[in-house]
Amino acid sequence: MNLRQLTDPFKPTEKFPALFLGHGSPMNAIEENGFVKGWKKTGEHLPKPNAILCISAHWETNGTLVTAMESPKTIHDFYGFPKSLFDVQYPAPGSPELATVTRQTIQSTEVAMDYEWGLDHGSWSVVRHLYPQANIPIIQMSLDRTQPAAYHYQLAQELNALRRRGVLIIGSGNMVHNLRVIDWKKPHEGYEWAIAASEKMQKLMLDRDHKALVDYRLGGKEMELSIPTPEHYLPLLYILALQEKNETLSLFNNKTIMGSISMTSVQIGDTIT
Ligand code: ZN
Repeated sequence: MNLRQLTDPFKPTEKFPALFLGHGSPMNAIEENGFVKGWKKTGEHLPKPNAILCISAHWETNGTLVTAMESPKTIHDFYGFPKSLFDVQYPAPGSPELATVTRQTIQSTEVAMDYEWGLDHGSWSVVRHLYPQANIPIIQMSLDRTQPAAYHYQLAQELNALRRRGVLIIGSGNMVHNLRVIDWKKPHEGYEWAIAASEKMQKLMLDRDHKALVDYRLGGKEMELSIPTPEHYLPLLYILALQEKNETLSLFNNKTIMGSISMTSVQIGDTIT
C-alpha cells in the first residue's frame, strides 16, 4: 500500500447515482412545496455519501476551481428576498481531501484550489433538503465561463471515477431558465415554447442523444429562448456525461412554471441499497 492509499478517505464503494436538480427560486430553500418534497424523497432514498461535489449554475470562473476550505460559508447571492432567507445557514463541513482528489482525478486541465467562495444558493438551497443535518462534507466545482458546452461535457466524464469512491455528484441549475420573460403571475404554468423545449430535452435524454443536448444551440427557436445563457443548463450536461452504458435515467419534479422555468430534475443510476 502506498502513502496515497493510506491517506485517502475515498475508498472504493458501490457506484453512487448522480443528480441534476432544478433549483428554481431561492425561496425553495425555506418553503414546503411539491419540489421540496421531491428533493427530500430523493435524499431519503440515497445512501450516505462520503462527500458531495456540487456544480452550481451560480459559480462561473475563468478556469475550473474547486472549493478547498475546511468550513465553506453560506453565500446569500441574491437580492430582494425576505430576511428569513438571508438568515439561513448551511454549516456543512468542506472537504479539502475531496478537492485534492478531484484535482488529481481531472487530467485534461489544471483544477485550481479556491479558498474564497463557499456554498452559493445553487448548492445550499437544495442540498439542505437532501441532507438537513448538514453533516456531509461538500465542495463546489466552478463552471469555466470561457469554454463551450462540449468542453464541459468532456470534463464531466472525468469525474465519473468519483462515483465509485462514495461521492455524490450534483448538478444544480434549470433546464429551461429565462428570467427576462419570467411571469410571476403564472406560478404553475409554462409558456408553450418552454414546455416544448422541456419535452424535447426529456426525449433527447431518454433516447440518450447527448450529442444533440450538447449541441443545444442548433436546437431551434424554443431551445434558444429556453437557454439564453448557458450557466443554468451546463450543470445538466455534467450529470448526463456521467451516464454509463445500461445506466437508467429517471425524471422527477417534472414541471414548467412561471412561464419560463422548468424544475425538472434528473437521476442517473439506480439508488443503491
Ligand atoms: Zn439559479
